[in-house]
Amino acid sequence: MPQVSTPSLSAAETDRQVRRLYDLAHRVRPIAHILAHPQATGDGVDYASARIRRALSAARRLLTLPGVAEHEEAPHALSSLTAAERQLNAPTTTLLRIAAAAQEAAARADAADDDLRVVVFRDIEERCRSLVDTAVVAPISGRRGWSARDRAANETLQQRSALWGLTERDDSGAALPPQPEQVLREPAELSWQAAERAAARARCAAGIRCTEQTCLTYGAVKVTFPVGAWLCAACIRVVDTRLTANGYAPGTVQPSPGGTPERGRYTVRLYNATGKGSRTVECSSPQRAQFIAETERPFNNTGYTIWISAEPRS
Ligand SMILES: [Zn+2]
Repeated sequence: MPQVSTPSLSAAETDRQVRRLYDLAHRVRPIAHILAHPQATGDGVDYASARIRRALSAARRLLTLPGVAEHEEAPHALSSLTAAERQLNAPTTTLLRIAAAAQEAAARADAADDDLRVVVFRDIEERCRSLVDTAVVAPISGRRGWSARDRAANETLQQRSALWGLTERDDSGAALPPQPEQVLREPAELSWQAAERAAARARCAAGIRCTEQTCLTYGAVKVTFPVGAWLCAACIRVVDTRLTANGYAPGTVQPSPGGTPERGRYTVRLYNATGKGSRTVECSSPQRAQFIAETERPFNNTGYTIWISAEPRS
């Protein structure tokens, strides 16, 4: 009896292992899609890479079991796993890793007021994500992936990122410092942008800009009325006089009793002045709020409002 049942049990066991191969393929497919997304985060890329690597080594183990590799259903399951492996090793995955490293490096540079690095790292991140987007093959829209020019751009971008220390990691996982000569090789456009940021920071050292269109001096304070206005001392009087002429009680416009604290929570809302969309940024000083308002342009026509979101903690 055992001699009769053993072959059929073994076939059932092979089927079971092939089903496990299928399960791996089924789970890995949506995870591989993360690596094709231009806006993938560093965490997302790390997660997807680890999951795909684990699935591939599990699949390799299953394929060594008798009968699994020869099973007629095996090639179909393997095609998803091979596609995920290709995605894992694609240059676009490297670009997403660089984009995440550049994003982190830009945030660190921003905290250190290092304007050249902010603009260089943001430029690298943007170029990486845009190339990942171009790589997506979409037959319906007629998109066919990278052209020869895109491939050349990829090469250049990877070399540039390596020189800035965005691709190599030391043992602790921190990016290696850039080669000093690379600073000189960046296009003049970026130095110009960095100079613009430095100039904006210097202007904003005086604080928030007066919202009176005829004034716009820096160092305005929050006022009780009009709602949302920031006014300098001269404009408080001008606006109050104007409102009095329109029937308001004299002294309606006053500096806000909460004041304009040097340390507080300021919210900057950046909005699309000619369309839909807005985004807010939290800042911890009036100088930073005005700087963000003047340097972040998420829309072609970006407008801004600033308000104090909370009283400072005492
Ligand atoms: Zn003013």
